[in-house]
Amino acid sequence: MNLEKYSQIKDWCDNNNATLIAVSKTKPAADILVLYNEGQRDFGENYVQELVEKEIDLPKDIRWHFIGHLQSNKVKYIAPFVHLIHGVDSEKLLKEINKQGEKLNKKIDCLLQVHIAAEETKFGFDEMEIAKIDTSNYPFAVVKGFMGMASNTEDKNKIMQEFNSLHLIDEQFKIAHPEATILSMGMSGDYEMAVKAGSNMVRIGSLIFGRR
Ligand SMILES: *Cc1c(COP(=O)(O)O)cnc(C)c1O
Repeated sequence: MNLEKYSQIKDWCDNNNATLIAVSKTKPAADILVLYNEGQRDFGENYVQELVEKEIDLPKDIRWHFIGHLQSNKVKYIAPFVHLIHGVDSEKLLKEINKQGEKLNKKIDCLLQVHIAAEETKFGFDEMEIAKIDTSNYPFAVVKGFMGMASNTEDKNKIMQEFNSLHLIDEQFKIAHPEATILSMGMSGDYEMAVKAGSNMVRIGSLIFGRR
């Protein structure tokens, strides 16, 4: 854990109008509490079981961001308390989130994950698929914007191109969906570029918590 680095990044994010999500996956609740005591409230987790256990142990005013790949059959475990689901990568998942939200009478905020990287393995929609989604079908799964991950490459031009492509999709979508105000792009290795390309929410793990 690097508290000095955390303060630097937090200041940088504040100065650049970006929300900092501290990505705490695989790290113990004690580490989360240290940052909590520094004032951090937004934390990101990737695994349902791990998140559910941490939520029980930790303060209730933490805003939990689910940033991993979410299986439809597990939505019900996080629906009651999750603040924002970043990785909505299929309409099936959106439908299930809507269903669980309706049961709880709670609007659940979501981001659509868009496939911007060249790699085959990354989950997400492409631009054409986004255009086909009718968000009015899902009143309890509120699409607040987009999440994307750039390719894992040294090629900065390529990374910028990928971030810019999602920024464009976001700008387009916002015309008809003014509630979509969040663009979640940028991790430890590329968050400065992401914010330059229009991101207003970054998800940072290893720079703050150390290697996993
Ligand atoms: C793990 C993870 C992060 C954080 O990655 P770091 O490189 O450790 O900052 C961000 N976003 C997603 C979706 C992740 O799975």
